[in-house]
Amino acid sequence: MMLYVEGMDKIVVLAGGTGSVKLAMALYRLKSNSGNSINSSKRQDMHLSIICNIGDNIWMHGLYICPDIDTIVYGLAGLLDRERGWGVSKDTFNCLAQLAKLEGEQWFMLGDKDLAMHIIRSMMLREGKRLCDVTGYLCSRLGIDARVIPASDDHIETRIFTDAGDMHLQEFWVKHKGMLDVNGIAYKGIEHARTCSSALHAIEEADRIIVAPANPVSSILPILTIRGLGDAVRRRRDVCIAISPIIGSRPVSGPAAKYMKALGYDVSPVSIAEMYRDFASSLVIDESDRVLMDEIKAKGMDVYATDILMDDEEDGVRLARYLLEL
Ligand code: GDP
Repeated sequence: MMLYVEGMDKIVVLAGGTGSVKLAMALYRLKSNSGNSINSSKRQDMHLSIICNIGDNIWMHGLYICPDIDTIVYGLAGLLDRERGWGVSKDTFNCLAQLAKLEGEQWFMLGDKDLAMHIIRSMMLREGKRLCDVTGYLCSRLGIDARVIPASDDHIETRIFTDAGDMHLQEFWVKHKGMLDVNGIAYKGIEHARTCSSALHAIEEADRIIVAPANPVSSILPILTIRGLGDAVRRRRDVCIAISPIIGSRPVSGPAAKYMKALGYDVSPVSIAEMYRDFASSLVIDESDRVLMDEIKAKGMDVYATDILMDDEEDGVRLARYLLEL
C-alpha cells in the first residue's frame, strides 16, 4: 500500500519508452525542481507513479530485460543515454563483444553498466520475488523519488506477424530494424496476466492519469488490455488525459505507423482518439493538427492543441506543466 502526503497531487503516467521517458523526466524534473531554468516558485509537489509497458520484456543470456521499465528508471535516475534513448550514458560494450566471440553475432545491445540491472533483476526473480517489488528495489537503490510500476508481474510478449513468421517485438524492431511488412500483432500471454495491486491502487487514487506519448499498439494497448488495469482506467476516465504520439499523419518516431496500419487504423490523431476514447476523456494534439479538433470531439473526447513535440528538456517541461495545469 502506498503512503500519500495529504494535499499533494497524485499523478499517474501510463508509459512506453521513447516519448514516454521524455515526459516522465519532465514531470520528475518539475517535481524535484532540478535544473536551473525552472523557477523554484513553480515547483510542483506531486506523487508520481509511472505504470510501464511490459510487452517488450525479453529473456536474453539468462537475463530478464525490461526495455520500457529500464528506460524510465534510467531516465529518472539521470543515467539515461539520451542520444540513443536507451541504456546507460557513456556505457561500454565489452561484455557484448565477448558474448559475440563465444556465441556469435549479437543483435540486442546491452552495455556493461546496464547489465548490472538485468543481473540483479534476474537474480531476484529467480529467488521468487515479484517484478513490481524488484523494480521498486532498483528504484530505491538509484534514489528515485517516484514509483515505477510494471503493468503486471506476469510475462506477456508483443508478437509481430510478418511474412518471415511471427516474432518478438524486439526481434522485429531491433534485429530486423523494423523493415519487414507487418500483417498482425498479438499480446501473447495477456489472457493470463494480472495487474499489480500497486498499479490498481495508484489508478484508483490518482488526481490525474496521463497516457504518455507512446506507441499506442505496442506500449499503451498492452497496458490497457491487462485484466483489471483497463477497467480501472476506464473507471477514472474523467481524470485521464492522453497525448497523441502522432503529429499530422506520422509518428514522431518508431514503428507506430506500421502497427496502426496493421490493425486497420489510419495514421492520424483521430485514430488515437478512437483507440483511447474509452479510457481517456481528453486528448492533447499538436498545434498543427487544430483542423482535426472537431473530428476528435465527435469521437467523444475533449481536445486540446499545443506544441507536443519534445525536442529537448525545456519542451518536455513546458508540455508537462501544460498537462498539470489543464
Ligand atoms: P515506445 O516508446 O515504447 O512507445 O515505442 P516507440 O519507439 O515505437 O514509440 C515511441 C512513440 O512516442 C512514438 O509513437 C512517437 O511518435 C512518440 N513520441 C516520441 N517522441 C515524441 C514527442 O516528442 N512528442 C510526441 N507527441 N510523441 C513522441
